[in-house]
Amino acid sequence: MTDITMIPGPIEFDPEVLSAMSHQSVAHNSPQFVEVFGSVLTDLRALFKSTDPKAQPFVIAGGGTLGWEIVGANLLKRDDKALVISTGFFSDAFADCLKVFCDHVDVISAPAGEAPSLGEIETALKKEKYNLITLTHVDTSSGVVIDIKAISELVHKVSPDTLVVVDGVCSVGVEPISFDDWGLDFVLTAPQKAIGAPAGLSISMASPRAVAKVESLEKIPVYFGNLKKWLPIMQAYEARKPAYFSTPAVQNVYALQVALKQILHNGISLDQRFENHKQVSDKIKKQINDWGLEIIAKPGLGAHGLTCIYLPEGVTLPDFLPKVAAKGVTLAGGLFKGINTKYFRFGHMGVSAVDPKRDDVDRTLKAIHDSLVEAGYKC
Ligand code: PMP
Repeated sequence: MTDITMIPGPIEFDPEVLSAMSHQSVAHNSPQFVEVFGSVLTDLRALFKSTDPKAQPFVIAGGGTLGWEIVGANLLKRDDKALVISTGFFSDAFADCLKVFCDHVDVISAPAGEAPSLGEIETALKKEKYNLITLTHVDTSSGVVIDIKAISELVHKVSPDTLVVVDGVCSVGVEPISFDDWGLDFVLTAPQKAIGAPAGLSISMASPRAVAKVESLEKIPVYFGNLKKWLPIMQAYEARKPAYFSTPAVQNVYALQVALKQILHNGISLDQRFENHKQVSDKIKKQINDWGLEIIAKPGLGAHGLTCIYLPEGVTLPDFLPKVAAKGVTLAGGLFKGINTKYFRFGHMGVSAVDPKRDDVDRTLKAIHDSLVEAGYKC
């Protein structure tokens, strides 16, 4: 039995995706690669459920963190104001990144497992005029999913000029997102989680309002992450024409193409994919509760691609994680400030959750159970 990686990204990758990573070298401006890159950009529109031709997908060598930096450099001016809705470590790190570019960044936080209420967000939006709000759809440190549709509706009602920015690193491909219908302005993500391709790319989608903001800025204080430079490149590739600003990560783009095909062109609708993830997540969460363990996310706030679980009294991470690893399963430790040593994280996105040929989830549940029993806990 091969070992499996059941952390909240990088996830297990399909063999076809992995073999695309060893594609022979092709020129980044060859007709063959231009077609591949173009189709990836077109497929991303479908993944984000965006049909507005003026919205713009971007694929740039990098990662989720580059997406934060792109937001800071391209959607904020030094004297703008940003509001960050925080449900954990990654939301806070997004705020830290924005502070590099903007002098006024406010954060509304919630205790572990909870989310700021719509009322708190409304009060903040009425008190201050924010240019931008960031929503971390799923914070990978707490396993909390927030209702970005409801928050976006609120922002459009109370503060219509505020750009709605979503960190979808741990949600795109597993949680429903309707870019156009929900009035989102920028969603950033990365391939190594629910999209199911190796890390190495920053993937994002910008609304016409976000593109207009980028174009209005006189000075963008970064070189590589300057969307004014990337906009014509993405437009050219999507029109199946070569263009150059910096060499694309060719093999990563090949792998992303396969992963997107598997998500979008396999006869299963996106909504069915989300439902399949939800069923697997519900089953895991029920089993965890049945063993008497506590999940960090409060009921109704649990993300569907990962579960964060408190260790029972007397079981420690340095004891538990190696016991699980000895059974061929890698899980992740905690990250949420103050409780990081008290819980572990179980990722269940992509093929591990939705490929019926795989038994990764059942193997992981058994490894958790047996390791807890070995550590002296009665499940
Ligand atoms: N946002 C979230 C919600 C994440 O989970 C992560 C990575 N785990 C990031 C951003 C940063 O992405 P990357 O590690 O690809 O830079």
